[in-house]
Amino acid sequence: MARVELRDVVKRFGKTVAVDHVSLEINDKEFFILLGPSGCGKTTTLRLVAGLEYPDEGSILIDGEDVTYSEPKDRNVAMVFQNYALYPNMSVYDNIAFPLKIRKKQLGITDDEIRKSVTEVARLLRIEDLLNRKPSQLSGGQQQRVALARALVRRPKIWLMDEPLSNLDALLRIAMRAELKRLQKELGITTIYVTHDQAEAMSMADRIAVMNKGRVIQVGDPKEVFLEPRHVFVATFLGSPPMNIIECVIEAIDNGLLLSCPGFTKEIKGVSSDEVDGVKGKVYLGIRPEFISISKSPLPGTIKGVVYVVEPLGTENIVSVNIIGDIIVKVKVGSDINVNTGETIYLYPDWKRISIFDSDTGKLLTRITKQLREEYTEEAMV
Ligand code: ATP
Repeated sequence: MARVELRDVVKRFGKTVAVDHVSLEINDKEFFILLGPSGCGKTTTLRLVAGLEYPDEGSILIDGEDVTYSEPKDRNVAMVFQNYALYPNMSVYDNIAFPLKIRKKQLGITDDEIRKSVTEVARLLRIEDLLNRKPSQLSGGQQQRVALARALVRRPKIWLMDEPLSNLDALLRIAMRAELKRLQKELGITTIYVTHDQAEAMSMADRIAVMNKGRVIQVGDPKEVFLEPRHVFVATFLGSPPMNIIECVIEAIDNGLLLSCPGFTKEIKGVSSDEVDGVKGKVYLGIRPEFISISKSPLPGTIKGVVYVVEPLGTENIVSVNIIGDIIVKVKVGSDINVNTGETIYLYPDWKRISIFDSDTGKLLTRITKQLREEYTEEAMV
């Protein structure tokens, strides 16, 4: 059992606030991913949990015990880094055995027991045939497995991984993602994993914390952060291509609000601006490229545009559509949909899937978004 809790943690390096009031609860056996752009504080957060850094404010708990200032060796965590840092002169066996050998007395274990543990973990990671080799005689993927084995041999309570797959080529990385996930589930070790690669996060995580500028912006399972972004940052950091964001203006009309966007307008019925906190003139309308359909004829409620460019991706095409001025909306459609550059087409957004964000704070305007979605759910049921 290992639950990790960060309570209002702050870490500064001089004037840089690397971790800015971060609170997180990571459940037992969970595969938890810290995702965000370079410099957002992911590694520092991980190092704070490992005990390699101490926070300036806040506390860190493992299974309810305050470990904020305890030493790494007393936390029973194992960390795997981006550069595997294997000892080049040692065999694979000795590399894996190292964490046990240096604590032999403390752990009260014999050489035989060490051998048994190393063999077992090597079997688990499918590297038992490589135990006599030196790291230089291994491929990148094999070196990665040795590093994972070394972190696992002590059977830590918590596994901390900092971009462990980033040195691998694309194919191997995808294969290792699946293996790591299998291994983590099989062993049931609570894992905190750092990456800036959204595809990696989406495919491996039970839950993701999206970070920016030292802060946690949203925590949720992969589907939730993709479909229900609570902030425009999450909407535009996740997705390939990311969510389309269009600057629009909201104003009160009879029985609702009117969203005036470049090239189209949209009524939101049954909600008034008085009821909705923080609604000012300008808002951001967010629509994922996956949730827009294309029509060649002007059906009611469609938005006219001209195809700017078509990017074929095999089974899908990304179509960039110029709706007015320099406003481009990206749409993801099946590769069977044939459209050409310069062609006039009509876009039909799935209004149940849109999000509306405050243009000042970037936060989701929950009430308006919900109202618009409900309207369209009801309409769909009629
Ligand atoms: P990356 O994906 O590039 O590794 P990250 O999200 O892991 O980035 P951190 O390494 O945690 O980000 O860094 C957060 C901020 O703190 C950055 O601005 C970084 O320059 C700064 N920082 C991190 N470690 C130190 C340090 N030891 N001394 C000074 N500044 C640091």
